[in-house]
Amino acid sequence: MLSDGSPAPGAMPAGRMPGVTQLLAAPRFAALGAPYVVPVQAQPLAHAQLLYFNTALAADIGLAPQWSRTAQAQALLAGNADWPGQHASASVYAGHQFGAWVSQLGDGRVLTLAEWSAPDASPVELQLKGAGPTPYARGSDGRATLRSSVRELLACEALHALGVPTTRALSLVASRLTVQREELETAAVLSRTAPCFVRFGHFEFHAHHGTPAQLAELADHVIEHHFPYLTSHPQRHAAWLAEVIELTAALFAQWQTLGFCHGVLNTDNLSVLGLTLDYGPFGFMERFRPHHVCNASDTEGRYAYSAQPAIGRWNCERLLGACASLLSPQPEAAAAAAVASQAQALLARYDEVYHQEVMRRWRAKLGLRSAQDGDAALINRWLTLLQRARADFTLSFRGLAGALEADPANPAESADSAGPLLDFPPGEQAALAQWLADWRARLASEGCSPAQRAAAMRRVNPLYVLRNHLAQAAIEDAQRGSSAELERLLAVLARPFDVQPGAGHYAQPPAPGQAQLEIGCSA
Ligand code: AMP
Ligand code: MG
Repeated sequence: MLSDGSPAPGAMPAGRMPGVTQLLAAPRFAALGAPYVVPVQAQPLAHAQLLYFNTALAADIGLAPQWSRTAQAQALLAGNADWPGQHASASVYAGHQFGAWVSQLGDGRVLTLAEWSAPDASPVELQLKGAGPTPYARGSDGRATLRSSVRELLACEALHALGVPTTRALSLVASRLTVQREELETAAVLSRTAPCFVRFGHFEFHAHHGTPAQLAELADHVIEHHFPYLTSHPQRHAAWLAEVIELTAALFAQWQTLGFCHGVLNTDNLSVLGLTLDYGPFGFMERFRPHHVCNASDTEGRYAYSAQPAIGRWNCERLLGACASLLSPQPEAAAAAAVASQAQALLARYDEVYHQEVMRRWRAKLGLRSAQDGDAALINRWLTLLQRARADFTLSFRGLAGALEADPANPAESADSAGPLLDFPPGEQAALAQWLADWRARLASEGCSPAQRAAAMRRVNPLYVLRNHLAQAAIEDAQRGSSAELERLLAVLARPFDVQPGAGHYAQPPAPGQAQLEIGCSA
């Protein structure tokens, strides 16, 4: 609804929420047609069982919660029916994978099922992942494992609750179909939504294989639907690229301060809306190690935690390279220099925004309300301490909030106290005490009660993050046909900052004897 009470253009008439057929189709990307997308057909899935449906997201995008119980919904979400009035499609893209140029990729096992406008008029694109191969499957089966689908579902919903821009998961359909990975696994179909799924790699593909006009058409499409305030900008393409770069820098800053490692930061996995996209071997870092690599297949550590910010910049450079013709329609020799200097200026925005955002977020995590000289040193000393102490990243920040309120020598026996700091090894206790003293002195320069500050810190430092062993428990339960653990874990992760009675073990790292899970690219 618009603020004057009238329905937003393209939205459903108010009060008519029950079914999918009332949604007003707003074909966007799919309607671009060749050479951007091709029509595809989902492959039927036998023995499909709707294991999970995200009713909160459904309401946001204009689907009634009870819709999921209809035969129509169950068929659509399994890939067993066509969306009324729309044709499924897959898009082509390219990308730099682990630094190497791959001139053709594409939605190999993803199809866009439908596009419409949500009740708030925002664009919605609905994709199925794992509904069979497309022309871009490159010989693969087009399916997704139940394991990787549960992980994507949990991770995107966890990040969303943490306030991180991301694609969302609407449903999970399990099946008895098996697929061969390292071992035989059961397959599933995940449905996911975003305003659009356009990637850096789409621009790389059309820059490499298409004409400047084709590339401009793609850019204008994205601008018209997702950055409409730029349509009349005198230099709309440059202004749009600046926005993409800034959104990317802000996203990476947010990941760093949450200890989130994406795992496969290829340019085909970067969204032009600055969304977290394509969850594979991601991980929330537990013990703090700057060189932590969450992807067991990433033997060189290209996408290590500490490397992520520079990779984000490198990927923006690839996008700018692909979009050079948008900056200068006539790439003659004289123009080339101008384009290069414009690209450098745009890239500088990455550094500025990343620095500004990451400092703002680190400060908030330490409870600092103002910016002062020496803050960066204080933050770095804290992170070095975490590394030396092999301390849990998430719980240590939470422990700092606890330390403001409790006598650190006598913390309460709760998951949300200064307790995690006491777990620092004896050899690091002196350094910790010195750092805490310096931190308290820094805090004393700002007027704020300890309780107020601790409360503010707990609003930015989560207690619950998606740890691999928690995801694994939900996966194993789902493999037995139950969604109980998935639902419980999702409910905890939906309120990551609030202490939840009875949920203490969801805050904890795996027990010392518990095997560390290796997560690779296989999905
Ligand atoms: P990812 O590493 O998951 O981002 O995937 C890289 C590319 O491989 C994308 O173009 C995917 O669509 C494609 N792909 C990955 N797994 C499969 C599969 N099982 N079937 C078809 N395509 C796949
Ligand atoms: Mg991908």
